[in-house]
Amino acid sequence: MSLKFSCASVGADTCGFKTVATDKADLARQLADHLVTVHAVKTPTQTIVRYLIKMAEESGSLQKA
Ligand SMILES: [Zn+2]
Repeated sequence: MSLKFSCASVGADTCGFKTVATDKADLARQLADHLVTVHAVKTPTQTIVRYLIKMAEESGSLQKA
Protein backbone atom coordinates (compact mmCIF):
# COMPACT_ATOMS: atom_id res chain seq x y z
CA MET A 1 0.00 0.00 0.00
CA SER A 2 1.22 3.48 -0.74
CA LEU A 3 -0.30 6.85 -0.01
CA LYS A 4 -0.26 9.92 -2.20
CA PHE A 5 -0.27 13.27 -0.49
CA SER A 6 -0.24 16.82 -1.80
CA CYS A 7 -0.12 20.05 0.17
CA ALA A 8 -2.73 21.55 -2.14
CA SER A 9 -5.27 18.98 -0.94
CA VAL A 10 -5.07 20.27 2.61
CA GLY A 11 -5.40 23.94 1.72
CA ALA A 12 -1.82 24.95 0.97
CA ASP A 13 -2.66 25.48 -2.68
CA THR A 14 0.36 27.65 -3.40
CA CYS A 15 2.64 24.78 -2.45
CA GLY A 16 3.31 22.30 -5.21
CA PHE A 17 4.57 19.58 -2.88
CA LYS A 18 3.42 16.08 -3.70
CA THR A 19 4.75 12.87 -2.34
CA VAL A 20 4.13 9.16 -2.20
CA ALA A 21 4.62 7.35 1.10
CA THR A 22 4.67 3.68 1.91
CA ASP A 23 2.47 4.10 4.98
CA LYS A 24 1.25 6.73 7.45
CA ALA A 25 4.42 6.63 9.52
CA ASP A 26 6.49 7.27 6.42
CA LEU A 27 4.15 10.06 5.36
CA ALA A 28 4.38 11.62 8.82
CA ARG A 29 8.18 11.66 8.58
CA GLN A 30 8.14 13.20 5.11
CA LEU A 31 5.57 15.80 6.15
CA ALA A 32 7.52 16.83 9.24
CA ASP A 33 10.57 17.33 7.07
CA HIS A 34 8.61 19.28 4.47
CA LEU A 35 6.99 21.53 7.07
CA VAL A 36 10.40 22.52 8.42
CA THR A 37 12.09 23.15 5.07
CA VAL A 38 9.25 24.72 3.09
CA HIS A 39 6.62 26.01 5.50
CA ALA A 40 8.98 27.36 8.15
CA VAL A 41 7.33 25.33 10.89
CA LYS A 42 10.06 25.11 13.51
CA THR A 43 8.67 22.18 15.43
CA PRO A 44 6.20 20.09 13.47
CA THR A 45 4.61 18.19 16.32
CA GLN A 46 2.83 14.87 15.91
CA THR A 47 -0.41 16.74 16.47
CA ILE A 48 0.13 18.98 13.46
CA VAL A 49 1.32 16.16 11.24
CA ARG A 50 -1.57 13.88 12.25
CA TYR A 51 -4.03 16.70 11.66
CA LEU A 52 -2.75 17.20 8.11
CA ILE A 53 -2.97 13.49 7.37
CA LYS A 54 -6.50 13.39 8.79
CA MET A 55 -7.55 16.36 6.66
CA ALA A 56 -6.17 14.69 3.56
CA GLU A 57 -8.02 11.49 4.45
CA GLU A 58 -11.30 13.26 5.04
CA SER A 59 -11.08 15.22 1.81
CA GLY A 60 -10.60 11.93 0.02
CA SER A 61 -7.32 13.05 -1.45
CA LEU A 62 -5.06 10.65 0.41
CA GLN A 63 -5.18 8.20 -2.42
CA LYS A 64 -4.06 4.67 -1.97
CA ALA A 65 -2.01 3.78 -4.98
ZN1 LIG B 1 3.90 22.22 1.32
